[in-house]
Amino acid sequence: MTEALNAGSVIGILGGGQLGRMLSVAAARLGYRCHIYDPATHIPAADVAAMVTNAAWDDETALARFAASVDVITFEFENIPTATLDFLEPLRPIRPGRRALAVSQDRLSEKAFLRDLGLQTAPFAPVDSLDALQHALGAIGAPAILKTRRMGYDGKGQVRLESPDDTAAAWQAMQDAPAILEGFVPFSHEVSVIAARGVTGEVAAFDPGENLHKSGILHETRVPARLSASQRTDAILMAAKILNALDYTGVLGVEIFVTPQALIVNEIAPRVHNSGHWTQNGCAVDQFEQHIRAVTGLPLGDGQRHSDVVMTNLIGDDLDQLPDLLRAPHAAVHLYGKPQARPGRKMGHVNRIIPASR
Ligand code: AMP
Repeated sequence: MTEALNAGSVIGILGGGQLGRMLSVAAARLGYRCHIYDPATHIPAADVAAMVTNAAWDDETALARFAASVDVITFEFENIPTATLDFLEPLRPIRPGRRALAVSQDRLSEKAFLRDLGLQTAPFAPVDSLDALQHALGAIGAPAILKTRRMGYDGKGQVRLESPDDTAAAWQAMQDAPAILEGFVPFSHEVSVIAARGVTGEVAAFDPGENLHKSGILHETRVPARLSASQRTDAILMAAKILNALDYTGVLGVEIFVTPQALIVNEIAPRVHNSGHWTQNGCAVDQFEQHIRAVTGLPLGDGQRHSDVVMTNLIGDDLDQLPDLLRAPHAAVHLYGKPQARPGRKMGHVNRIIPASR
């Protein structure tokens, strides 16, 4: 039996964006304190965390001091340099573990991992030259999407190819970065499953949410998603399979394309996820508390939702709508405390509870 961390223990969080901020609030509610490590100049989590280290990812003195001050380490984004994790790993437990990060940092290893688990993905092939791209497009067929293997997010580092005529421009857009070509999936809609696994291996999933993107950025998540009862079960089982295969501790997001024939996994995020923000007002235990419970060894909440919710991201000058949002019925506004609204910048979100019809 693994002991849970005592109240007052310190959770180290790598990254202090809005996810680190909401994790810190959830941790405080359970009696824990958070120490944020982030090299950025503005750290949204700093407003609500007990301790903050503002230092570079390769500052070994700062990393050693950070590790000495915490009981467990987790992270709020997946692109933490490998050398940073190599340094921290012998000092404190990192949850979830390195394998989940290694798999999800590289789209090629991610797709291969999912395929080897027996889950369906888009057809894919590695691409490291124009020649390889031409071959891959010949095998996969158009339309297809060329993506950088690493560091892509919110649709960045992606080019759609409609025909072989597009290969030269698409390869040029990769700027020689190793890439992956994926067949285009003609999906009807996208859903995601946010699920958690505890230190003892128990799994709890939230209801799948349906995601709508605008300009490559998540705009809205609706729960429940349009899924049949069997699709819903299948989606949750896919997430559970991934959690077990990675021997995972914490919350994970799985993005899934829905087609009439199949559920196709697009990608996994080894952390709390934007498409799980609805849980803050739709469940007694939200994804942030669930992650804290998992990494500290507490029992997980069961993931049941008490309300249907529509979560809408507040991006850039969407914040101008704040007076109306604050007056709207059944709406909970969550702001990230970022000083400047820039185009494309996530400033907050609003969860609108859909009242049950009487
Ligand atoms: P990603 O960065 O992989 O999450 O991709 C961003 C968005 O591009 C997804 O949410 C989809 O809307 C779209 N997309 C990515 N890959 C594919 C694909 N293989 N087929 C169709 N649409 C895709």
